[in-house]
Parts: sequence; C-alpha cells; structure tokens
Amino acid sequence: MILETPEKFQASCVAPSKTSWEALYFAFRGKEILVCVTETNGFRIPTFENIQDAKITTIQKHYIGVFKGIDCYAVETLETQEIPEMMQWVGLRVVFAKIDNSLFALAGRSYQIIDWDRTHKFCGQCGLETILSDDERVKICLKCQQKHYPRISPAVMALISRGHEFLLARSHHFPAGMFSALAGFSEPGETLEQTVHREVYEEVGIKVFNLRYFASQPWPFPHSMMIAFHCDYKSGEIECDETEIEAADWFSAKNLPPRLPGDISIARQLVNSKLEI
Ligand SMILES: [Zn+2]
Repeated sequence: MILETPEKFQASCVAPSKTSWEALYFAFRGKEILVCVTETNGFRIPTFENIQDAKITTIQKHYIGVFKGIDCYAVETLETQEIPEMMQWVGLRVVFAKIDNSLFALAGRSYQIIDWDRTHKFCGQCGLETILSDDERVKICLKCQQKHYPRISPAVMALISRGHEFLLARSHHFPAGMFSALAGFSEPGETLEQTVHREVYEEVGIKVFNLRYFASQPWPFPHSMMIAFHCDYKSGEIECDETEIEAADWFSAKNLPPRLPGDISIARQLVNSKLEI
C-alpha cells in the first residue's frame, strides 16, 4: 500500500463559483486536522455543512480538486477555534488508521498546501507581501514578480541487499528497537542515484550498485518526497557515521530487528518487498 494520488482525484486550484454543502474540508490548526467523530468512534472528514454548523472560522482556504465527484478544500482555522463535541483535533498520523487511504493522501496534500501558504506570506527576495495566483498553485510577489511554488524536498531511501540479508540502521531519534532503511535528502545538483551512493557511503561506509527504483511517497511532515530504491552491496564494512546513525546491521527474514517502521511508511513497504510479504 503506497500512498499514491487517489485514482478518483482530479487536482485543481480553480474553485467552483459555489461551495456545495457536501464539499470536504481538510481543516488544520497547526499540525492537527479537524475530524468528525462517528458513532462507532471512527473519524470522517467534515463537510462544508459540518464546518458551517460548527461555526468554524477559516483564515485561509485553498481549493484542491475533486474526489469522487466531491469538491475538496484545504483550510486553516484560528488557533483558538472552539469545536463542538462531535469534532476532534488529531495529528495526521493518528488519522491514518481511521480513514480511507485516499482521504489520508488528500489530508497530507492539504497540510502541505496550508503549510506552504503560511510560510510564504512574504517574498523571500524583496520581503513584500505575496498573493495567490488565480490559476496556478503559486504565490507571486506584486513588487518583484518572484514566484514561490510549494516546496517539495526530495529524499532517497535505499535498502541494500547482500544475498538474503539486507542492511537496516537506526538513527538517534528513532523509537527504541526500531531499524529502517537508510535515507537522506538530495543536495542541489545531485541525481537521485548520486544521492543514494553518497548517503549510503556517508552513513555506513558501504559502496552499492545495481540501483532499482521501488516507489515514491509524498511525506507531509512537512514537505518531503521520499523516493525509494533497492540496491546491492558492492564493498566495504559497516562503519556508522555517529552523528546520524546509532547502529546498523545486516538482517534477514529470520533475523528481524525488534521493531520496523509503521505500515504507513514507504520504508516498511520496501522491507516487506524484500521479505516478499
Ligand atoms: Zn518580491
């Protein structure tokens, strides 16, 4: 399960002239999303009608497109927004297990758009206020015309195989016992393949070859695009870069670490593909 753009979603930034009552509202207060709690204790994304009934004040609103014939909006509310009992503020990761994958992907998309708007109110070149373009997802400076697109930061992930074994590592900030595939951000001017070779060598002192693209995943915490590869061991002994990596080792299906990344992550899918789960 990779979080692909939902098949039945048509992205757009040009809003219809009228907001329909059943339109979906992906509403954020900081990093938390507003959900309606269902009778069975599940979550659902509020509609425009729910938002109106709850008297929610929105301070920025972006049309994001149509999902299964229903208009979708990303909105930001006041920090102090009060909500009725049937609604709740929850972290995006909490929502994952409780709503449809497609809606989760749209929630992540919405968060990135809200975060981009909030952090690009002023032009990075001349410091004056920016405005949203009418027909493109871009903020433009009225004075110098500089365009500010949503920021997406590419990062690679690599699962290194050596026969039936594969290399996993843990960084200092991982939960206890968790190991994952190596990952790191691309630098300006680098190809994704060069990033894999550099990151792997920097983090564990190993050379790899035979890179195979696996899949990609937008990761809205806050604006990464993770691009995952399988690759094969070529040479070297594990030597951890202590500033980033606490431990690294070779694992196998019969010798897994105490904990793997959660199902939500491309890291877990990458490991599962090696285990042929
Ligand atoms: Zn400017």
